[in-house]
Amino acid sequence: MKHLNIGIVGGGFMGLTLALRLSQWGNRVTILESSDQIGGLASPWRLDDISWDRFYHVISLSDLNLRGILRELGLEDSIRWVETKAGFYTAGKFYSMSNAWDFLRFPPLNIAEKLRLGSTIFFGSKIKDGLPLEAIPVEAWLRKWSGSGTYEKIWRPLLKAKLGDAYQRVSAFFIWAYIRRMYQARQTGLKKEMFGYVPGGYAKIIAAFQSKLQQLGAECCVGCPVQEITSSAGQVRVSHGNGSANAFDRVLVTVPSPLIPRICPTLSETELAGYRACEYLGVICSSLLLRRNLGPYYVTNITEEWVPLTGIINFSALLPPEEIGGRYLVYLPKYVLATDDAAFAESDDAIRQRVLTVLQRMYPDFRSEDVLAFQTARARNVMALPTLNYSATIPPAKTSLPGVYVVNSAQITKGVLNINETMNVALAALQWLAEE
Ligand SMILES: Cc1cc2nc3c(=O)[nH]c(=O)nc-3n(C[C@H](O)[C@H](O)[C@H](O)COP(=O)(O)OP(=O)(O)OC[C@H]3O[C@@H](n4cnc5c(N)ncnc54)[C@H](O)[C@@H]3O)c2cc1C
Repeated sequence: MKHLNIGIVGGGFMGLTLALRLSQWGNRVTILESSDQIGGLASPWRLDDISWDRFYHVISLSDLNLRGILRELGLEDSIRWVETKAGFYTAGKFYSMSNAWDFLRFPPLNIAEKLRLGSTIFFGSKIKDGLPLEAIPVEAWLRKWSGSGTYEKIWRPLLKAKLGDAYQRVSAFFIWAYIRRMYQARQTGLKKEMFGYVPGGYAKIIAAFQSKLQQLGAECCVGCPVQEITSSAGQVRVSHGNGSANAFDRVLVTVPSPLIPRICPTLSETELAGYRACEYLGVICSSLLLRRNLGPYYVTNITEEWVPLTGIINFSALLPPEEIGGRYLVYLPKYVLATDDAAFAESDDAIRQRVLTVLQRMYPDFRSEDVLAFQTARARNVMALPTLNYSATIPPAKTSLPGVYVVNSAQITKGVLNINETMNVALAALQWLAEE
């Protein structure tokens, strides 16, 4: 792939990674991004007077693709690695779950249940290829390896917190991929959880990406929603909301699967049906700037079904308050099905009221005056649900429209959704595209 005129639809990290390599190979690349900035789910926003990630993002030691690209952008050495702790909120109390000692003392489980939970995590982390697990329902796999007691007390509430009732359609691949990622965040030998961030957050990474792409001659068109893609006579035509259009030799579409039938309506019926059938999870995530610290854990997992949150992400466990004017940054995410219109329609005020009431119940000394800023972000199409035999249901990346390829995060089949896996899909696609 050299000296071609290539359009990339979507300026998230998938689009940016493809654009970087394709420009380096000597192609003329144009990114077409609908929103007013590139970065997609990792893009920043303003929260009071700070600019930070709209959705929390950390880097894991094992994120080798991402770290490689940060090296190219001159940012790898600036990553701050921090040893973090994980917690559980269960039966109205917080428990640390950060090392073997915490695990042994964890009261909700008896010793036999702990042994089974520990061995599920340990042996799960040793499985190298999670693909065969796609054929097994997550509940069946967890009940088999962890036992029903541990399943009911720990796994089922965690699955429900993350996936709602959709957990019943999900395969064991999902939990395997999570276990692997969490395990990989732990330094071998020391078994300490380490996560990193670049000072300045993803805003800094995106700015460096943008200037690298500019140096390479790639163009980033923001505020440019693609309306329709058609292909004829060796050219791909991309039309925009504003009535203009571009012609390209190749177009790579990186947007979430549910959006593809709308912008590529002339795909075959089988392809359209494949994209329509792909179920997505979205997220509704409030960011808070607090006067006080919410505790020592980066992630607090929640097993109480009355708490309408997937977890509590205390970003100040990594980001020192001094860097954000002495305040503490907390994210409160709730994952919901992309089709849950009622959840996405809830007003900011209603979410704020509900969430603060929940925090007051969880942290009895929490006061609404502790909240200095509160803002809620929503993203409907975040992650394809890893249903049974998921990878067999993904439509081929090379579409029936000549010159049009779909390379999106729904093609992640080796791990959980994160930027490193997203880049993995991009880099693998580039390999086969180069051989086309
Ligand atoms: C709450 C949350 C927490 C996360 N935490 C982490 C973490 O800690 N670490 C980590 O590595 N990853 C994390 N991730 C995952 C990470 O954000 C994603 O893996 C990554 O951003 C996916 O990039 P993408 O380019 O595939 O998709 P997106 O970022 O969704 O990009 C798609 C782009 O396409 C654009 N688009 C859509 N329709 C059109 C159209 N018609 N025309 C033009 N453009 C269009 C969108 O505006 C968007 O910019 C998190 C995600 C969320 C939501």
